[in-house]
Amino acid sequence: MRLRSYFLLFLLGAFSAVAQAEGLRFSLVKTSETETLDAFTVADGKWTEKVKANHVAVLIQHHAATLLFDTGLGRQVDSQFSAEMPWWDKPLMQYQAVNPARDQLDRDGIQVDRILLSHVHWDHASALADFPEVPVWAPYEEIEFTEIATPPAILPSQFAHGVKWHPFTFLPIPFMGFEESLDLFGDRSLVLVPLSGHTPGSVGLFLTLEDGRRFFFTGDVSWRLEGFTGPKEKFWVSRRMVDNDREATRAQLQKVHDLLQREPGLIVVPAHDAAVQDRLGYYPQWVQ
Ligand SMILES: [Zn+2]
Repeated sequence: MRLRSYFLLFLLGAFSAVAQAEGLRFSLVKTSETETLDAFTVADGKWTEKVKANHVAVLIQHHAATLLFDTGLGRQVDSQFSAEMPWWDKPLMQYQAVNPARDQLDRDGIQVDRILLSHVHWDHASALADFPEVPVWAPYEEIEFTEIATPPAILPSQFAHGVKWHPFTFLPIPFMGFEESLDLFGDRSLVLVPLSGHTPGSVGLFLTLEDGRRFFFTGDVSWRLEGFTGPKEKFWVSRRMVDNDREATRAQLQKVHDLLQREPGLIVVPAHDAAVQDRLGYYPQWVQ
């Protein structure tokens, strides 16, 4: 009898978590893409193979709010890039034609209530200036990083319009193997976890659809899914350029690797991995 009531409680809990995430959907808004060598993106990559890398903003519609996770390349990216990116970094950071998220969303009358950043690197924060009215959620240490870091890590002009920062701290509530987390709407459909290493306040986002399919947006801990399945670091030149803390980044790779071993159904979406993202499709196509 007791067992049965526990089971009923479990079912109730599962049902309410699902019910609250009703209608949750997301779409990858591709703002630009680029082509690079496999070897530049991941350790032991091939010098003879080319790979596509995307710059996306993840548009998320929850019944309580419409969110963007990262912003992709924005309307002002050319002037930001040419004025502040050091010349020696420019060749490796090249990008192709830009289709800013704001333009794509305005066309359909979609309003964003909140921006979350996986981290503040230039290619993730470029379009903040296109959404000056929208609050931007980031951990304290990541906001501080925008004040102390210099190009190419961050481009100060991207924050000059006066970002409406909404700093947050994680709670000591374990989630999916992470000791701390932040459940955005209290229904476990959108849960942030700390992924510090690539930058001091890098974060990842777990998104769980109504039917239980779970996605993990991992920012730039790795540029490629292979970085987690390996696990493999970035190419050494690249990681020296972009990873703020090598050991911490390596620990995060291992953590996500272990998580994938336990949860093989989890769909990990690195911010730039076009091979993974092509399978999900792009705005106006939704994953739901
Ligand atoms: Zn980055």
